[in-house]
Amino acid sequence: MDYKNVLTTCIYCGTGCNYYLEVLDGEILGVTPCQEHPINQGQVCIKGWNSHAFVQHPDRLHVPLIRDGDGFREASWDEALGLVAERFQAIKAEHGPDAFGVLTSAKCTNEENYLVQRLARAVLGTNSVDHCARL
Ligand code: SF4
Repeated sequence: MDYKNVLTTCIYCGTGCNYYLEVLDGEILGVTPCQEHPINQGQVCIKGWNSHAFVQHPDRLHVPLIRDGDGFREASWDEALGLVAERFQAIKAEHGPDAFGVLTSAKCTNEENYLVQRLARAVLGTNSVDHCARL
């Protein structure tokens, strides 16, 4: 058996509580709040206790899906991202960059949110960028 405690930051809000993920043979069993972290000092809220549940949820997608008729089919990342780029280019050519609005997520890191707004402004050409934390 391979047991690890992995120090990480809760993704559910911007408070930034730290806890250890208890991992057994690659499966997350639970969390132990970090006693020595100055923000949460050994505490986490109810969201923090359950914040790992989605990681191993059976409904979680593991590969991209592309709409195919009334359903979806699995695709490679190259195919899915190529299709997205193609559709973005077509929308931009037909309707202009203001046709786009980009909504980022509090579940992403600051760095990821920064990259999304760079993509919106520099590639799509829109300043319509917002964040779910403001909703
Ligand atoms: S444990 Fe609760 S308060 Fe702390 S970061 Fe997670 S959601 Fe926010």
